[in-house]
Amino acid sequence: MNEPTRRLDTLLIHAGEPEPRIEGAVSMPIFQSSTYEYAGATSYHDLKYIRLNNTPNHRVLHDKLAALETAEAAVVTASGMAAVSTALLGVLSAGDHLLIQRVLYGGTHDFITHDAPGLGIEVDFIDADDPASWEAKLRPRTKAIYVEAMSNPLLEVGDLEAAVAFARRHGIVSMIDNTFASPVNFRPAEHGFDLSLHSCTKYMNGHDDIVAGAVIGKRALVDRVRLKLAHLGGSLDPHAAFLLHRGMKTLALRVRHQNASALAIARHLERHAAIARVNYPGLESHPRHARAQKLFGGFGGMLSFELRGGLEAADRLLDRLELPISAPSLGGVESLITRPATTSHSGMSRQDRAKLGIGDALVRLSVGIEATDDLIADFEQALRP
Ligand code: PLP
Repeated sequence: MNEPTRRLDTLLIHAGEPEPRIEGAVSMPIFQSSTYEYAGATSYHDLKYIRLNNTPNHRVLHDKLAALETAEAAVVTASGMAAVSTALLGVLSAGDHLLIQRVLYGGTHDFITHDAPGLGIEVDFIDADDPASWEAKLRPRTKAIYVEAMSNPLLEVGDLEAAVAFARRHGIVSMIDNTFASPVNFRPAEHGFDLSLHSCTKYMNGHDDIVAGAVIGKRALVDRVRLKLAHLGGSLDPHAAFLLHRGMKTLALRVRHQNASALAIARHLERHAAIARVNYPGLESHPRHARAQKLFGGFGGMLSFELRGGLEAADRLLDRLELPISAPSLGGVESLITRPATTSHSGMSRQDRAKLGIGDALVRLSVGIEATDDLIADFEQALRP
């Protein structure tokens, strides 16, 4: 198939699919076999085995994911955190130094602050919106710069183009967590990023029924990560691979609906008397709206906001809402609502959260695929005094 000329919607369905189809099966079958008959492999990593990430269910996902982000290669992992930690450990060794965005997904922040130091990896946090301040933090052993497409939970959009330029100038690896944007809204390789990471638990799978991850990018780096993954063991199980594959087919339909719905809800909330502030890159009031417009095909399905009534009002809202389910995680077909201070960012101290602007009363909404008007009506009733 001539994939480079095909659009994302078509690639989601057809890229990477086995040709000819296995026994004519239109849906990719599940290969629920840990090991495979020896076929003359000459190296350990060429043996076919689930932990070595090379079974048919892995390979189809790797090819599809690479095609979606117009990248050279991809590898799937057992969770988003397996993608984040394995990619970092694939790029960095003891004595190396990392520059990483200050406002991060809580699990990544925990890994960086609790695990990386014990492994001899040195880290400096950077303001992703202030490239002029990065140079001073560079060290002889700086190996990578790490950013998120949109920060969690504040939806800030850092200077992603500057991160790529900085990495190129200094010969270091540029890494981006692209979970919030998804390949529908942002394809990092097209902007020069070396590695793109995903929690496929979120938009990629989209149905809140598995955890999975992916590392996508330059072949030489993905190969390094794949070797590390085989050693650390965070490999995706075939049944989860099947569900991820199935979920991904509707990624574009879901994410476009979520983009439109989140924008409408963000606009509605911004005008609401009970709401103090809404964080959504699609709003003209977002400090980096122009940058988001330039970089992203859509502004995503995630937003966060603060209520004028503080914590009490936030808890009342979560109690009264009938449609969004009060739960952590994001990117699925059901709308989910949460206070990051009690869920995704509860591993950080209150002081650390406050420094980053994540207040206890901040509410984060992951917009699902329900009818937009029903969600808006639900917020209306739940915010009534
Ligand atoms: N990256 C981001 C931006 C996330 O939001 C999450 C989870 O919420 C992860 C990584 C980790 O993914 P997982 O829960 O699949 O390990």
